Amino acid sequence: MSLSLPGTYNRRMTEVLRQIHARAVTAAARGTVASYIPALSLADPGALGLAVVDADGCTCAAGDSGTRFTVQSISKVLALAYVMTERGEDAVFSRVGKEPTGDPFNSIIRLETSAGQKPFNPLINAGAIVVSSLMPGSTPAEAIGGFLAFTGRLLGRSDVSLDESVYASEKATAARNRSIAWFLKELGLVPADVEDTLDVYFRQCAVLVDAVDLARIGAELSLDGVDPVSGARVLDARTARVCKSLMVTCGLYDGSGEFAVDVGVPAKSGVGGGILATVRDRMGIGVYGPALDAHGNSAAGLEALRLLSAELDLRVL
Ligand code: GLU
Repeated sequence: MSLSLPGTYNRRMTEVLRQIHARAVTAAARGTVASYIPALSLADPGALGLAVVDADGCTCAAGDSGTRFTVQSISKVLALAYVMTERGEDAVFSRVGKEPTGDPFNSIIRLETSAGQKPFNPLINAGAIVVSSLMPGSTPAEAIGGFLAFTGRLLGRSDVSLDESVYASEKATAARNRSIAWFLKELGLVPADVEDTLDVYFRQCAVLVDAVDLARIGAELSLDGVDPVSGARVLDARTARVCKSLMVTCGLYDGSGEFAVDVGVPAKSGVGGGILATVRDRMGIGVYGPALDAHGNSAAGLEALRLLSAELDLRVL
């Protein structure tokens, strides 16, 4: 992919993103903004931002690529990487599986019916709540402070912050996540205080990012943990690979199989409208489009990724 003239490549990539933005933005009309967390319903349903960070660290963007939004479930990849880094792979996978479910992200049903009675994977809510409980720190503030510092290292900035109103809105309405967390407590998988663990989880979901941030993390994953912007290693290679494997099978809720067929790269979505995608050795892609399809994935964002994958021959699966 790398052309000899980075400037030429940049102009071409920027033009590709602009054209795809123009074609994909109409797909937003097929989705609706999440409202089960009331503060999320304030997002502009017609927004669409696209960004690419390539293996040389060049950034290209189009549309609403600088709009900040809450990372939501994409934080599950970051939290997994953080806890694997701090506590090791076994600490996570002795408590959480690696298998897809085919169920919605917030499903509780398999916790009781599966043989091992542990969450199927760290990218559904049940698994992510267990991962949140493993973040180092004796208070929620300490745990989230460590997570924000880790995220800041990936993003190359120290001003990572939360959307306090989205955090408060989720905390005030999270009956289902509370049910999941209490069930996990009963299974012995949440040793700490349940409300404290949920507080960490709600805060990690409320971290503010834009499409360029997601593209940079995608680029770091694409290079197995090396940040192409700074040249620094920000993740252990094994951690990056585990994250990518789970993103392939579980990253887009119960739309993961269709996405693998249509787009063919590891990705993770969130109900804030973000999608983080990563193309081995080539680039990270960040997308923002808050109108969601029936699975909870950005409608226009999916369309943009389908078009981009075809245009640049990104498929790795
Ligand atoms: N905070 C959200 C929840 O737990 C995240 C969901 C998502 O993005 O899939 O419901």
